[in-house]
Amino acid sequence: MKLFSKSKPKIKVQETKRESFDGWLKCTHCKELVHLKELEQNTNCCPKCDYHYRISIYERLKLLTDEGSFQEMYEDLSPLDPLNFKDTETYKSRIAKAQKKTSRKEGVITGVGTIDGQPTAIGVLDFAFMGGSMGSVVGEKLTLIIEHAISEQLPVVIVSASGGARMQESALSLMQMAKTSAALAKLSKCSLPYISILTNPTTGGITASFASLGDVIIAEPKALICFAGPRVIEQTIGEKLPPEAQKSEFLLEHGMLDCVVRRKDLKNKISTFIKYLMPEKLLKKNRKLSLENLKGAKLVSLEKEIKKTSR
Ligand SMILES: [Zn+2]
Repeated sequence: MKLFSKSKPKIKVQETKRESFDGWLKCTHCKELVHLKELEQNTNCCPKCDYHYRISIYERLKLLTDEGSFQEMYEDLSPLDPLNFKDTETYKSRIAKAQKKTSRKEGVITGVGTIDGQPTAIGVLDFAFMGGSMGSVVGEKLTLIIEHAISEQLPVVIVSASGGARMQESALSLMQMAKTSAALAKLSKCSLPYISILTNPTTGGITASFASLGDVIIAEPKALICFAGPRVIEQTIGEKLPPEAQKSEFLLEHGMLDCVVRRKDLKNKISTFIKYLMPEKLLKKNRKLSLENLKGAKLVSLEKEIKKTSR
């Protein structure tokens, strides 16, 4: 029987190396093919494994605030280069590139919007702008929005996504840790709540300052949250960390977080916490507070901005 004695044909199955096809994405976590539309409708979380992909600041604001309510403040503040810093590239040129890429002046958006009808001061760090790093202007904008919350008696929500302090500004950037922390201490003295949202990744000076100071600290699932990243630790101690060691779930187990909340449930959760934590008389007063004609604020069309930056 010649048929059975024949050696098996050697078929080579070539694995595709492409990570995305027209309209499809190969999930970096579960390696399944996911349609981009489906991903978008699922708040940019993988419908197969629930991996939370990074989203833009505008998508984040759309998810958290009531439609048509977000007004940006302090948008004109732009970073300087007081140290004339240069590594492989000048700081000035890095800023120019980031500004061109994001069409924004700095790595944080600050303003006021309503969350389930409750006016709230909001700050969202922009990872697309130099890795969401905190320079003097990022620190200043966050401090200004916290101070605005104090004068208007509003709760504060800050969403972090950052590589840490901006090394090109050296000590000036590190000073922002103290400045933002001091502003939050004042907020706390006024009995106004601060809710900190940690998303992937929240690291360095951000974790070591305002991100860890929330009355409630919420993280998205499987977000990397740490001071020194896994690579730095491995190089220092010469040992590999367990894969889940710096992820949200591990930190929750060890008492560093209050809860891990899926992206689609975040707005509800934040709104519940604000209602619990705001003094009752302020809650009623603020509900009547109009967001219109806010001094120096500009209404942002989130839909328009999302379309501009969509992939
Ligand atoms: Zn997946």
